[in-house]
Amino acid sequence: MAVRWLLSLCVAVSMSTTQLQAQSLLIRGGTLIDGSGGAPIPDAQILIRDGLIADIARQAPTAAPSGAEVIDARGKFIVPGLIDSHVHYREWHGEVFLAYGVTSVYDVGDPYYWQAALKQGFNSGRMRGPRYFFCGEIRLPSEEAAANALPAVARRGLEVIRKPEEADGIVEAGHKNSALYHWMEPEEFDRLIKELVGQGVFVNPTLDFEWKALTDRTRDHEREDLRLFHTPSLAYVPVDERLVVLGQYHWPDSRSADEIHQFKEGYRKVQQFLAKFVQSGGKIYSGTDSSAATTPGLSLHHELELLVDAGLTPMQAIMTATKHAADLLGLDAKMGTIEKGKVADLVLLEADPLTDIRNTKRIATVIKDGRILDTTFHADYEMPIRRPGPESKHLYNPIPVVRDVVPPVAVEGRSAPVRVLGRGFTSSSVVRFAGRTLDTRWVSSTELAVILTPEQTARVGTFLITVETPKPGGGPSHPVEFIVTFK
Ligand SMILES: [Zn+2]
Repeated sequence: MAVRWLLSLCVAVSMSTTQLQAQSLLIRGGTLIDGSGGAPIPDAQILIRDGLIADIARQAPTAAPSGAEVIDARGKFIVPGLIDSHVHYREWHGEVFLAYGVTSVYDVGDPYYWQAALKQGFNSGRMRGPRYFFCGEIRLPSEEAAANALPAVARRGLEVIRKPEEADGIVEAGHKNSALYHWMEPEEFDRLIKELVGQGVFVNPTLDFEWKALTDRTRDHEREDLRLFHTPSLAYVPVDERLVVLGQYHWPDSRSADEIHQFKEGYRKVQQFLAKFVQSGGKIYSGTDSSAATTPGLSLHHELELLVDAGLTPMQAIMTATKHAADLLGLDAKMGTIEKGKVADLVLLEADPLTDIRNTKRIATVIKDGRILDTTFHADYEMPIRRPGPESKHLYNPIPVVRDVVPPVAVEGRSAPVRVLGRGFTSSSVVRFAGRTLDTRWVSSTELAVILTPEQTARVGTFLITVETPKPGGGPSHPVEFIVTFK
């Protein structure tokens, strides 16, 4: 059938149920900024039970239930756990998100079966990382095939399914250092905004991703990213990811003054549009596109700063990563604000984010599902389910590592299919046998397949197999021995 059906699977809800929290937690004092946009509540008392917010009292001291842990939050500011609504998850993200108070993420693009596994792992508490929601795509040849696939899809925990014609209103504009923005016509803003607000369209500007090299905060943000990447226990952050994130601060270095002027003009127009959009009742949600060229966790705070630069109040900026993000996901009844009955995801700050939005980075304590998290980094942090596909879409290839060759023996003069197992393989990796490059089929980042020809196995002996990936990064792997035995 020529026509291809596209099912967008947008996934929501199903909160953590297997992780039972019996303990209670009482947060005493502190100024509550609950994410709803309402006035801050000084000296709030927040009681948490079984992972949920059980009660919120104003001022009157709440008696701590017996056995409850008490947090003295006097002088602190309490905001909802942050939600990054536009990520492309990678194995190393977990601890970094949590350390920056990002307790939920929305993955809008990764292999869906991997996403489904991650959701099970994270949301049941069996893997350490943020609460995880996702949206994926499965391409099926016909409507009938789509209908037949539904039971399997449901078993994987996917809840909302849309046909293409139902997924209207989703527009993806030009991305990444686009000069298009300077063509925006401010005289059209009012009409466009009226239309968008009328239709209830949420806007995700990814300011940090798009403009990080040209803002008034560029040098500060670059320094903060650098400082984070220098953390010794974060040695597991892949080199190419660091290079791309840091390189994004320098793409204008090679542009002409005229071009930079155009980009900056585009940025000013985008800021103007966003300020107007929010003043007109439009909802922005903060999604950072981590880690396409932004640092997970930290970039969400940078995004909030850039939203304030655009003209939002700090309160409006905070709502883009709390209430509006939960609204977008259809999860506003369960999360996004600090209210009785909602999940107990909270961040305690050392200073007031409403007087200076940069204070959202001054994190004292992160609470997720009613538990105080360890927000330090661990050099051995690992996620058991590796992402299928090449490890990196960036310019810099990982160095390949060969662990095993299966089978390790071939028979003299016969053709032999061989699987090369290891890690860091990309679609441009090749297997080399006895110094010759073989016709290589890429299976995954951990497997390559080759077929040795009778000519290649013509001679009995012990030969070396390596994998080579083109530079930058890349290079040859260590060799593994392979035997050609007698007929
Ligand atoms: Zn993206």
